[in-house]
Amino acid sequence: MMKNNYYKFKNVALLLLALTSVATLASNQVQGVRVWPSPDNTRVVFDMAAAPEHKSFSLDKPDRLVIDLQNIKGSSNLPAVTGESSVIKAIRSSGDGNSMRIVLDLTKATNANVFSLPPTPPYGHRLVVDLPNNQPEPNLPPPTIRAARDIVIAIDAGHGGEDPGSIGPSGFYEKNITLPIARQLAQLIDRQPGMKSMMVRTNDYYIHVNRRTEIARGQQADLLVSIHADAFTSPQPRGASVWVLSLRRATTEVGRMLEQTERHSELLGGVAEIIKDSANERYLAQTVLDLSMNHSMVTAYQVAGEVLDELGKVAHLHKKEPQAASLGVLKAPDIPSILVEVGFISNPQEEKQLKSASHQTQLAKSLFTALKRHFETSPPADSLFAQQRAREHRVSAGESLSLLAQRYNVSVADLRDINQLASDSIRVGQTLRIP
Ligand SMILES: [Zn+2]
Repeated sequence: MMKNNYYKFKNVALLLLALTSVATLASNQVQGVRVWPSPDNTRVVFDMAAAPEHKSFSLDKPDRLVIDLQNIKGSSNLPAVTGESSVIKAIRSSGDGNSMRIVLDLTKATNANVFSLPPTPPYGHRLVVDLPNNQPEPNLPPPTIRAARDIVIAIDAGHGGEDPGSIGPSGFYEKNITLPIARQLAQLIDRQPGMKSMMVRTNDYYIHVNRRTEIARGQQADLLVSIHADAFTSPQPRGASVWVLSLRRATTEVGRMLEQTERHSELLGGVAEIIKDSANERYLAQTVLDLSMNHSMVTAYQVAGEVLDELGKVAHLHKKEPQAASLGVLKAPDIPSILVEVGFISNPQEEKQLKSASHQTQLAKSLFTALKRHFETSPPADSLFAQQRAREHRVSAGESLSLLAQRYNVSVADLRDINQLASDSIRVGQTLRIP
């Protein structure tokens, strides 16, 4: 008897539950449509009131992507679309009061990826359509090795597009702090002979964290600098910090990449051409990668220290030593990578400071000063910086300052200045800089 009643009750409860969920689903709604173009991909985001029930398929002649949404209230009107992309001619919709059909008229056939995303502030439920560009803007050809090449700094402005990063107490987005700092750093680098920047993202769009290191690798970057702003659950923490790859993460990544034979050549560059014996390949790849990882980590740690020295002059430091982390963007074992947290966006004073253009400029300048100094001190052997550094002269017996000035076609005064000489006397074995 008890049992029977229990089942009866349970069935009623289930029925009620089912009715409630139908009612909930029927109240879904498309609240916004945003188009985010990027060089690789166009992302269309439908902001939804609840988790979407969706199906999609492609049609050709003309190329279209059709998305059917179920249980949509007000299904006949699609909100106004913000943003545009060369891949999309138009976005239109039709509805019968319960379901909605959205059609994307495309300029060419593309392999669309349609998926839903759970709420992440400031966004709620979303239906996302990724339309890869069929002919992605080709990455610039890798820099050809010349006698004196530029040092390439990949600059990664954290977050972007769909991903605002952390949000400050006044509602400011991290992605809107990282991009202007990255742009200014790029400008300073590009004005410096012997250095060249490449921006991992050039505008407000989303790039997956794995793709960020791939872009840097495609340009054979000497260093990857990822720019972020920190956040915490309480408003007190403040200050900048610099992160490098943790040894444990690096070791795991090397292992994972070695499992994928097809990635060896990507990681090893020219070396892979020499390694033709597949039995030895893994062993050799391991050795070469260990060496390059070791170099990457040492370089990253040195650069991180130099960046902290400079940042400390213009900002409060949260941590005075480089921190080791397993952050995604730091996982490239073959490219020295650092992640700079320029301050805490969750701290009201720092949020205000980070928003100010003059502070952003100071941060960019201090990053540049540190990077430039690092590469002046330890230039890659084939770089212009290395060539310039090599303009030194070791004094032999019988040489005088005036003789050297004549030989290098410079003035005695310039030689004296650059070498900070108090007089014209020089000694055998002394190393002089040549202006
Ligand atoms: Zn961040």
